[in-house]
Amino acid sequence: MQPIENQNIAIIGAGISGLRCASRLLECGFICTIFDKSRGFGGRTSTRRKDNWHFDHGTSYFSGTDPDFLSHLQTLQSWQPRGTETNEQLYVGASGNNELAKNIAAQIAQHSPIHLHTHLDTTITKVRPASPTGWLLTTDKGESFGPFDIVVSTAPPPQAINILADIQSSVTQRLATLETYCTWALMLVTNKPLTIPDLVHAPNADISRIIAEHSKPHRQLAQTESGLASGKLGQGQYVIHASNAFSQAHVEATPEAVMQSLVGQLEALYGPIPQIAHSQAHRWLHAGIRSPLGEAYLLDRAQGIAAAGDWCTGNSAEDAFISGANLAQALITGV
Ligand SMILES: Cc1cc2nc3c(=O)[nH]c(=O)nc-3n(C[C@H](O)[C@H](O)[C@H](O)COP(=O)(O)OP(=O)(O)OC[C@H]3O[C@@H](n4cnc5c(N)ncnc54)[C@H](O)[C@@H]3O)c2cc1C
Repeated sequence: MQPIENQNIAIIGAGISGLRCASRLLECGFICTIFDKSRGFGGRTSTRRKDNWHFDHGTSYFSGTDPDFLSHLQTLQSWQPRGTETNEQLYVGASGNNELAKNIAAQIAQHSPIHLHTHLDTTITKVRPASPTGWLLTTDKGESFGPFDIVVSTAPPPQAINILADIQSSVTQRLATLETYCTWALMLVTNKPLTIPDLVHAPNADISRIIAEHSKPHRQLAQTESGLASGKLGQGQYVIHASNAFSQAHVEATPEAVMQSLVGQLEALYGPIPQIAHSQAHRWLHAGIRSPLGEAYLLDRAQGIAAAGDWCTGNSAEDAFISGANLAQALITGV
């Protein structure tokens, strides 16, 4: 490999880990090309918008203790859910939790276009060796990018394995041992709010969390600006996360069946629920990791293959952020 500081890095994934990795590398003068199959930044911190409603159907809120991560959370709003005791300070984005990723992306966009290239809406299907050295990335549309000296995958392990399948490396060997779990998320709008706290944890075996999205700072305002005209003022807006057991048992169920089941459970818990104005179920197939790797990142320095993500140490955005930062640090220092 050539000297580390001259290297050209491909980063697959523009979630929190990929963006944090890129931002650290760019600060040190590396050339980074970021790919993501989605149209926006954020990965599992993304926000679903429908009419005037904003749903954080993945990450519900951010919290953490790492000073670097906390300094990034200061760009968000603090959220104190009513009726819920929390020992942690919780943070959310005013317009949606994808704001954290957008903020990091905006910071890195200030680097010169010679150093930073971003390809959203671009699904990487394969990484294969370039000649004489390096790696080429192929997309589902048959495009080819590269050569790159180092490829960093921040996709969840089963997706990373598919992309890196043909490469014999300690990275792919370790990725193959990791299993993810699925989570169903129900997005629900009711004509009146339910009489429940803003944040409910595990009210029964099938529901892991109920989040009143309308209680997050500025969300009600966002809803009311045009909500006044449309009569949507004062609605209840919720994200309901199913438990691991329910999600696993319903992994192949239709969104409609999941919706009916979860709404039925809400009624069993809280009585008849007000008229439903909107509902949609989303399946996060790789929502989290069953048992984290226990190391901050994976790096095969000799081959120039690396992987990072929350799954390295846990299941939170903070884990993702730290993994991306630590992998970047290892590439920067070369040790
Ligand atoms: C339902 C749910 C609730 C959660 N709640 C919380 C919470 O309250 N608080 C908290 O801190 N965390 C929460 N999390 C976890 C948090 O969302 C993750 O820890 C964090 O977002 C992971 O970031 P990441 O960068 O490691 O991975 P991701 O966000 O998964 O990023 C990986 C990126 O890779 C891209 N990608 C994958 N394959 C390809 C490909 N072939 N080509 C191109 N791009 C590709 C994906 O599109 C994605 O953008 C929750 C997650 C879920 C699903």
